[in-house]
Amino acid sequence: MQDQLQSLSKKVKENQKAHRNFFIKLRKKTPKNLDAIMEKLHEEEFKKSDCLQCANCCKTTSPIFTKKDIERISKSFRIKTRQFIDTYLNLDEDQDYVLKSSPCTFLADDNTCNIYDVRPKACQEYPHTNRKSFEKISDLTLKNVAICPATFNIVEALRAKLK
Ligand code: SF4
Ligand code: SF4
Repeated sequence: MQDQLQSLSKKVKENQKAHRNFFIKLRKKTPKNLDAIMEKLHEEEFKKSDCLQCANCCKTTSPIFTKKDIERISKSFRIKTRQFIDTYLNLDEDQDYVLKSSPCTFLADDNTCNIYDVRPKACQEYPHTNRKSFEKISDLTLKNVAICPATFNIVEALRAKLK
């Protein structure tokens, strides 16, 4: 997996400009069936990608913790939300709650999530490649291709499909 992540970094650099241009065009001329295309590409990629062999998202970036996330996770820990915030979270420059430390405190040694059933919504939805109106999250996707090998592959598959 380490090799795969190193080669991801190289591939991302090589394709940075092409990806940026691709998303500019995608926003200007969005296929009517893009939601259906993304759902299929996402499904196909995650049949092949094993997140438990990777966990690069959990190791390198923090999800945003919404108020609802904080309430749900604190409740599962049977602690007050204030205690949860003070122990695990910081406010970032956008005033969103994010993890104090990276890799994620809740990531287990075998790459499973210790709070899987109550994990933040952002983790449930990551890497957002089956999201409706995918063209609207191009800035986020351009960041995610550098973190998530599956996202890189999905973007490449989309480029090939729309050629
Ligand atoms: S909460 Fe779980 S899924 Fe989310 S970043 Fe941490 S380990 Fe990963
Ligand atoms: S970075 Fe992508 S492939 Fe790796 S664990 Fe996260 S979602 Fe799965």
